[in-house]
Formats: sequence, C-alpha cells, structure tokens
Amino acid sequence: MNHGQTSSVLRPRLLVLDDGRLESGHEVVISGDRIEAIRPATGPCDWEVCLLPGFVNGHSHAFQRGMRGQGESYPDGAGSFFTWRESMYRLVESLDPDRCHEITRRCFEEMLDAGITTVGEFHYVHHGADAGRDHALDEAVVRAASDAGIRLMLLHVDYVRGGFDDRPLAGGQCRFDTGSLDDFLASHERIRDLCRGSLAGAAPISHSTRAVPIDRIVAVREAARSLDTVFHIHLEEVVTEIEDCRTRHGTTPMRLLLDHGVIDDRVTAIHCTHSVESDLRDHASAGGRICLCPNTEGNLGDGIPDLATIRDAGIPLSIGTDLNSRIAPAEDLRWIEYVQRIHRTMRGAVVADGRTGPPLLAIGNRHGADSLGIHAGAIAPGRLADFVAFDPGHRTLEAVEPGSMIEAIIFGTGPEAVVGTCVGGRWLRGGPQG
Ligand SMILES: [Zn+2]
Repeated sequence: MNHGQTSSVLRPRLLVLDDGRLESGHEVVISGDRIEAIRPATGPCDWEVCLLPGFVNGHSHAFQRGMRGQGESYPDGAGSFFTWRESMYRLVESLDPDRCHEITRRCFEEMLDAGITTVGEFHYVHHGADAGRDHALDEAVVRAASDAGIRLMLLHVDYVRGGFDDRPLAGGQCRFDTGSLDDFLASHERIRDLCRGSLAGAAPISHSTRAVPIDRIVAVREAARSLDTVFHIHLEEVVTEIEDCRTRHGTTPMRLLLDHGVIDDRVTAIHCTHSVESDLRDHASAGGRICLCPNTEGNLGDGIPDLATIRDAGIPLSIGTDLNSRIAPAEDLRWIEYVQRIHRTMRGAVVADGRTGPPLLAIGNRHGADSLGIHAGAIAPGRLADFVAFDPGHRTLEAVEPGSMIEAIIFGTGPEAVVGTCVGGRWLRGGPQG
C-alpha cells in the first residue's frame, strides 16, 4: 500500500469475479481507489450483499433527462425519431449553464442510484443561449459529474453541419457548433484541463457521418490517436442516415468509416441498428466495438439490430442509457435479449458456456469500461474499486439460488435492489456501514 492511501476490506456474502463466476467466502482488499487483492476471507462475512463491478454507461446525453415523459403525445397519430428530435431541439434552446448543470447533475445522481459508476457522456450541446461559441455547457457537465461523484469520460463532440448535403446548422443546432477544426481542438484542450482529476477524462470524438464531413472525422480520429484516447460515433441508427450517405458518398456510413481507416479497437459505434452483415463483419475484423441503447432504441422506434452477426463476429458490446428516458442498466441488458427473442421467436441471444447471465453482465460493465478506455468493470486486482451491491434479501431477489443470482439481477430486478454504489473506493450510496 502506498503511504497515505486508505485501505479497506470487503467481505460480501457473494461477489462476481472477473470470469463471471459468483463466489462466496472471499474478501476484496481495496487500497486507495484500486482493488489490491481478492483472496479467501480472513474473517466472517460482514455484509449480506451480492457485489458486482459497477455498471458502465457507455453512451449518455444527460441533458435529455430534462425531457422525461415528454414527446409521448402524438397529435398526428404516430411519431418517429425525427418528431422526437424536434422536441429535443426545443429543450436545447431552453438550456443555460445553470439549467444544464441542474438537469445533468440530477441525471448523474440517478445513475449512481442505479449502480452506474462510470458514464461516457457524449456531449454535444456546447453553448449557452445567444452567447456565441462560449462552451459554457461543457464546463457545466464536468461540474455536474464532480458534484455527483460519478466517474466521467467526457466524449467531447465535434458537430459542424445539418446534413450530408452540407446544409448549415439552424435553430437549436447552433448550440452544437464547434467552428473550425482548430477551434474544436482548442476547445478540447480546455476541456482536457478541466478533466484532469482522478474521476474524469476527456476524448475528442465526432457526432456522426451526417453532422461531420468524412475528412474532418478522419482528422479528429487522428487527434484522438495522438492523445491515446478512445473514439465514439453515432452510426446507422436510422435508415434515412444510410440513404443520405449513399446519395452523397455511394456507400453506407459504416463502410465510409472503414474505407477511411477510422475503425480500430478503440472505436465504438453507437447503435448500428440498420448495419448490414458484410459491413459488420469488416467492422469486427478492424477491431471495432458497438454500443447498444435498448431502452432508447425502443423509445424512438429505431428498429432491431442484427445481433446474430454482431455476436458471431465477436464484436464487443456495451450499453448506454442514451436519452435517459429510463436509467436502469439491468433493464437495458435484458432488452438486448428480449427484442431478439421477440423478433426471432427463440430464447438465448447472448449466450456463453450455455448461460446468458455472465455474458450479459460483461456487456454492462467490463466491455463498457474497455470501450471508454477505463481500467474498471471487473472485480480484479489492479482495477478501479467501482462496485454496485445488490441486496439478495430484497423482495425481488429473495429465495433466489446463488447459482441463478446473476440472471435474477438482470432479468428480475433493478435499481430498487441496489444497496451500495462505490466509485474509486468511496461509497456514494449505502455501503458496508450504510
Ligand atoms: Zn446518442
């Protein structure tokens, strides 16, 4: 143990090890913000919980928490992704730094309640009202994460145009404008300075092939490479995005990124709802990752991804709460399964060694941490001491056999059974003494 670092020992009833095994009779030694050791318990169990790695939220737009319950009335009988987007732009026009901070902090607090310990905040609403390019909302998000205590990877978004036809930004979109490439990289440097603490990091990324020309995506990807940071991008969420890209470039957005050398093992494509098999296989070969946001994709009526190809190609998956209409990571995990079961009238879409629980859980923590470039997401020596504790005595989990506990947590409960959330060795909710 380093001098001056605090040390503690957890002896939970059950804990999930790195390989997905559920064990009892072990203790976790924490030194500072890291896990120092997992070893046979040197004393009796002192906390009746099932300890899991904290959930990692790979894709969030926290300000959209301010729309919860809105956009669900349909005067014309039905809506779409685009009618929802008009509601979102109206919210954007109402945001000033204080309101952005308030909504974002509320959202991050709710994530901690649900056992999310790291958020990848895909942040593109940079500017306050009528203030030009002031980047005041970027600072509000960093402050909100710090106030809540959640681990933040600020995915700092480049956004410059209204469509593949290069139409200029209009209305609420002007709040997203990052100006010239030099302007964007300079603003990113300021954000990196704000995110230098142990709980925060930042990465320059591109919003989508729609909102950023391909040459500029390549340039931002190069900047991320030189900074040794991850790179995320929205990809193929709606069919019109693919049609418009074909009109402009003669190919799909995913193929466009592949052809320009954008994809590698540090790149996560968000959604890929309508990606075709041949593109997905080449995305896998290039090392690319995918983040699914099942609650959001369901809410927006996006469609159902080709999970069979994603799984067979071995693409690492993570999850995101995206528009934050609902913040419940286990629910997102179960809906990855359920939409496939409904679609294919068969059970077991994400399966490893005959089980769904451990591979789904890895989507919720380890693969999410890898996608954000954070050494967390597993209860293993050297990893960050980020945990969520579930109460096996909670009404939704009582009488569950230990061998089925992971599946019961994913399919049968939610934030209501969380009795502890720990970020970097610090219990922000509940805890052994809580
Ligand atoms: Zn998104």
